[in-house]
Amino acid sequence: MNASEFRRRGKEMVDYVADYLEGIEGRPVYPDVEPGYLRPLIPTAAPQEPEAFEDIINDIEKIIMPGVTHWHSPYFFAYFPTASSYPAMLADMLCGAIGCIGFSWAASPACTELETVMMDWLGKMLQLPEAFLAGKAGEGGGVIQGSASEATLVALLAARTKVIRQLQAQSPELTQAAIMEKLVAYSSDQAHSSVERAGLIGGVKLKAIPSDGKFAMRASALQEALEQDKAAGLIPFFVVATLGTTSCCSFDNLLEVGPISELRVTHLSSKCTGKKEDMWLHIDAAYAGSAFICPEFRHLLNGVEFADSFNFNPHKWLLVNFDCSAMWVKKRTDLTGAFKLDPVYLKHSHQDSGLITDYRHWQIPLGRRFRSLKMWFVFRMYGVKGLQAYIRKGSNQLNEALLQRINSAKKIHLVPCHLRDKIVLRFAVCARTVESAHVQFAWEHIKELAGDVLRVEKE
Ligand code: PLP
Repeated sequence: MNASEFRRRGKEMVDYVADYLEGIEGRPVYPDVEPGYLRPLIPTAAPQEPEAFEDIINDIEKIIMPGVTHWHSPYFFAYFPTASSYPAMLADMLCGAIGCIGFSWAASPACTELETVMMDWLGKMLQLPEAFLAGKAGEGGGVIQGSASEATLVALLAARTKVIRQLQAQSPELTQAAIMEKLVAYSSDQAHSSVERAGLIGGVKLKAIPSDGKFAMRASALQEALEQDKAAGLIPFFVVATLGTTSCCSFDNLLEVGPISELRVTHLSSKCTGKKEDMWLHIDAAYAGSAFICPEFRHLLNGVEFADSFNFNPHKWLLVNFDCSAMWVKKRTDLTGAFKLDPVYLKHSHQDSGLITDYRHWQIPLGRRFRSLKMWFVFRMYGVKGLQAYIRKGSNQLNEALLQRINSAKKIHLVPCHLRDKIVLRFAVCARTVESAHVQFAWEHIKELAGDVLRVEKE
């Protein structure tokens, strides 16, 4: 394919994508195929001779689409939201075209520098404490990881290295294996399975703390486990608090767990290390975290100041297509200290200047894409207000318009109320004679009128 064919085919592909997304509602959301459906539909080996683009594109509808689960269908309500926006898709095209592997500043300065600035922009949107921002000379900063699982693993491995080095500095006779045997990490019993997996990969015990009646990890339960483990000679070193658990979007009590993790380790360290040493607190807000850009939800992040690292996925709910998992640390040296290796072929003249970031030291793989382009396009084309409106997905005006329609239609009657700054439509079951059928009727009627209101708003 030469440049002129690329221009033509590229435009066709953009049309195909736009048609796909515009018509996605008409496709069955879940594919009707059996395991192994695809193999008989394509040759058993790659073609020896080149094929035409036309033939490939024709096979998309015949072979691929029948086996696609349409995550962006409005009928898809499984798992969690995954981001999709046109600006992010266009940025991804450009990322593919530039095709750099930005493992170090020198490997592509724009790739590194835009990422640092975008992570600061996003950190400011969330009102993260200053300590997490890179700024011009901060000790912290943000990095784009591929997934929340990766971020948890990176945090756990960095915390593990840190505690091992500290203990060995005090007791050089201790081997890494002897220390690792005693290390123990904690999360709530509601934490995502990726947290347990990080423990598995990191070769440390991970204990699930029983959550309370609201599915939240509380200090008392964590404290109890810490006491027991210390008494058994174990070394607590890492806690994961979840803000927005996968099963039910519960929030661990960060304001309790944050200070407790510090206190406990102070106590532990007097026994084990002889000096104050905090447990590493990592926050996993993978899918709920995007909501913190709205001031009315920001209080759910209170206590983040106790954390060493914080992560959420713009690729879930902030319109930046997969993959884009935003991770911040208060001390970048905690990561670089754990993961830094400098083979001669990766060295460059600026690396020790203190002015640049080499992101390869902040992550597990070496290679990395120019993912911050997606953030840049999305943040600029939506603006913070547009992103907040997307999270809120509704307004007082819409509620008012709906109420007006409901009461004008006169089939049912409702009155509103104000809950702080929100207009809420109250649905009270009032009459002695109300039966389920009446409520069902009202619900169908409300849904129909809400659909009308949304259609008018769209136009
Ligand atoms: N943590 C939480 C709370 C999640 O809900 C999820 C996914 O749903 C994850 C972690 C894993 O996310 P990722 O696929 O980015 O690793």
